[in-house]
Amino acid sequence: MKQRSCQCCVLGAGPAGLSAAFELVANGIEDVLIIDRHPIVGGLSRTVEKGGALFDIGPHRFFSRNREIRGLWHELLGDDFLPVNRLTRIYYKKKFFKYPIKPFDSLAKIGPAAALAALVSYIRARLGAKEEPKTFEQWIVQHFGRRLFETFFKTYTEKVWGIACNRIGADWASQRIKGLDLIQVAKSAFRIGGGSQAKTLVEQFDYPRKGAGQMYQALAERVLDAGGDIWLKTRVEKFSVADERIKAVIVRDPDGQQVSIKADHYFNSLPLTFFYQAMDGYVDKTVGKSVEALYYRDHITVDMLVDRQKLFPDQWIYIHSQDVKMARIANYTNFSTHMCGGKPKTPISVEYFVFKDEELFQWPDSDIIELATEEIERLGLLNPQAIEQCWVVKETECYPTYYLGFQPYYQAVCRDIERYANLTQMGRAGMFKYNNQDHSMASGLLAARNYVGAEGSPYDLWQINVDAEYHEAGRR
Ligand SMILES: Cc1cc2nc3c(=O)[nH]c(=O)nc-3n(C[C@H](O)[C@H](O)[C@H](O)COP(=O)(O)OP(=O)(O)OC[C@H]3O[C@@H](n4cnc5c(N)ncnc54)[C@H](O)[C@@H]3O)c2cc1C
Repeated sequence: MKQRSCQCCVLGAGPAGLSAAFELVANGIEDVLIIDRHPIVGGLSRTVEKGGALFDIGPHRFFSRNREIRGLWHELLGDDFLPVNRLTRIYYKKKFFKYPIKPFDSLAKIGPAAALAALVSYIRARLGAKEEPKTFEQWIVQHFGRRLFETFFKTYTEKVWGIACNRIGADWASQRIKGLDLIQVAKSAFRIGGGSQAKTLVEQFDYPRKGAGQMYQALAERVLDAGGDIWLKTRVEKFSVADERIKAVIVRDPDGQQVSIKADHYFNSLPLTFFYQAMDGYVDKTVGKSVEALYYRDHITVDMLVDRQKLFPDQWIYIHSQDVKMARIANYTNFSTHMCGGKPKTPISVEYFVFKDEELFQWPDSDIIELATEEIERLGLLNPQAIEQCWVVKETECYPTYYLGFQPYYQAVCRDIERYANLTQMGRAGMFKYNNQDHSMASGLLAARNYVGAEGSPYDLWQINVDAEYHEAGRR
């Protein structure tokens, strides 16, 4: 087997991995090697060129309360980082509802009787809200009332997670939409009061001129310019572990050769569960059981190049309708006009949330494309004859699933992985956290700062994104 040694080995060239490498080289550590299985950098936030147009892996907006990350984004892309006025809607019962919800728009669409019923249901829920909510359903009903839960939350959430809302923990709602309830929505709609807004209500975000992945290309260039190395099309296969240390990581290079990589420290953004599955050392039985109890939701994107312009004005539309499997449709020219490569065409993507062992994930691409085309036609969004070319992208371990009762297993795994002295877990799948790009980048930066013993370290990476307001440089 070929051998390679380096001071720091970073696993994954997504936002977390690249940020860790960026911070390491910025602190004078040049012997940094990044490994990723994809042919381009960016991970789930990458942008791929097909048919002369650009596609993300589902829509990616840039928004952060972390001043440092915002600053870094602007520094990396300068004039190529553009503000976008958000327009997103919910498609439900053959109607489009503005999202974030606008009271007059929703009222006009559901009618005064249903609006009154929703208000009564909200008041009833508030009066009855005595106990701490345990499930996602209880959390939403307490904050919005049962009527609005059933209209605006239930179907979409169940499409995303593949389980009933009363089996999803309240942790997910409180992490993602903390500070949001009907009153907050109404205040935001009428622009009453200042203060911070729940992230989901934000009406403007930023976006790179050439797709989300442009940010990570820029970050990768910084790493390479400073002497770092990136191996793409290289898959991590095994962790060789002994005495609570990683002795080597075995990867398969693009020529099919195995390479053993020895490093002083490993920064790992690959799925938390993968570390245990790929470890050739000893896994405690209880920890093994906890690892098995954790799972992720997987994802299919059908990218379509459409020979038309001005299809719909939204950046993306949430598809709540139960009669179709698709969950979201995105129009990339409404993020940046450069996404269509100057041609009078429109790159769009249709998303399906699935489990990898589900039938749909196993279907051949041609069948998945047929399903997406048929559903898009049924919704009346597009004449399928205008679709010029389609591609299917399948991604696994996209959404760490906060099902009801996952916490004890999760905590057992987190405690265990801390034992490995020369390993730092970071990122979304790596820490089993429902991270956005900014949280993943912050975890990478702080992981590197802990390694170099930067001022203020050690930082507790597990605290990132626990609290919606916790977005500054990190808690010590
Ligand atoms: C559909 C969708 C929409 C999203 N929308 C937004 C949004 O609007 N805004 C936002 O901020 N965030 C969004 N996100 C989240 C964002 O994509 C992630 O937070 C971010 O990409 C996570 O970065 P990461 O580096 O932690 O992990 P990843 O991006 O997952 O990077 C991990 C890397 O590890 C590599 N890898 C995995 N296994 C192996 C292996 N065995 N060998 C070698 N390499 C391996 C992968 O190829 C990948 O490049 C969205 C995510 C999805 C799925």
